[in-house]
Amino acid sequence: MTLEELRNNSVFPVGGENVNYAKYFIGTSYLNMISMEQVVIGNVTFEPGCRNNWHIHHADKAGGQMLLVTAGSGWYQEWGKEPQKLQPGDVVHIPANVKHWHGASADSAFQHLAIEVSGENCSTEWCEPVSDEEYGKLK
Ligand code: MN
Repeated sequence: MTLEELRNNSVFPVGGENVNYAKYFIGTSYLNMISMEQVVIGNVTFEPGCRNNWHIHHADKAGGQMLLVTAGSGWYQEWGKEPQKLQPGDVVHIPANVKHWHGASADSAFQHLAIEVSGENCSTEWCEPVSDEEYGKLK
């Protein structure tokens, strides 16, 4: 799926380029905050090949992140584990304090809703990029 196909079929608006987090991504992503109240939810769209760096959603208690996949094809991987292919309808529960990355497939745009799970002393630590070598091994 191309970015334009995804954009034209997106239930929630794709929003503008995700410039504030661009330094933590390879490729271009788009962010539209669809809720800033009660539960914070962002609609994140990735062009084909775009992925975020390895990162950790820290929390002393609860916290973490949930991904609800809404379009395209992508990946989720936890440090030391096999990558998981993602398709629309998939739900990913990312525990706090687990190093991971998420992003598009090489040949398709990708979109997920990212839900911030509330917790105590939450912060996100951004780590190294997912290298072309690592990413290129995904099938
Ligand atoms: Mn994450």
